Amino acid sequence: MSTIETKGIIISENNMGDFDKMLTILTPNGKISCSAKGARRPKSQLMAGTQFLCFGEYMLFKGSNTYTLNSCNTIELFYNLRIDLDKLQYAAHITKIIQDVTYENQNTYKILQLYLNTLYVIANIEMDLKFICSIFKIRLMCLLGFKPRLDRCVNCSSEEVNHFSFKDNGLKCINCSKQDTGTIEISESTKNALRYIEVAPAKKLFSFNISDENKKQLEIIAKIYTNSKLEKEYKM
Ligand SMILES: [Zn+2]
Repeated sequence: MSTIETKGIIISENNMGDFDKMLTILTPNGKISCSAKGARRPKSQLMAGTQFLCFGEYMLFKGSNTYTLNSCNTIELFYNLRIDLDKLQYAAHITKIIQDVTYENQNTYKILQLYLNTLYVIANIEMDLKFICSIFKIRLMCLLGFKPRLDRCVNCSSEEVNHFSFKDNGLKCINCSKQDTGTIEISESTKNALRYIEVAPAKKLFSFNISDENKKQLEIIAKIYTNSKLEKEYKM
């Protein structure tokens, strides 16, 4: 039996038996499923660190094909998410997406970083929750290899672009968008927001603002683009 020590965040917890839990932890090296024996006993040292959305340092025993949690130290509990139903709902929504796009033995360093930053912003910054969610989704699509083309028209390379094409994954000029029914017209400000989200340093990703109308455009793009790339029907 070997042990591993890793940072990670609990992205799902299920009760098992009278006192145990089955956990899924997202680590920088992919998802790990593990059992936490006795984690629901009132005085268990595992109790705090095995809650949904707890980020911490985990020590795991590796068996032949299962992991068992030995000990954990809590780093961040995202307390503010737990006392605000709206915030918790958005946190749960982005967690569902994270569960769907991560696997075992995968380099998830950047995805984990984005996810933790997003949870931090939802928990601690007074910002429109839908706007946070849109930024998260677009950046996630970029990390997953679905970077939309944003510098020129995907079709004719014109720099005069003002439509977003879901079919062709990027911006289009007015002429090319006429032959594409799957486009929406976007403002200069929404276009700049998309470009910013693609290249911004991780820590500055959420440090910008746009008008409500442009937030709505961004939200539509983020939602339809994510659902089509991941082939899902996320409602939010
Ligand atoms: Zn064009």
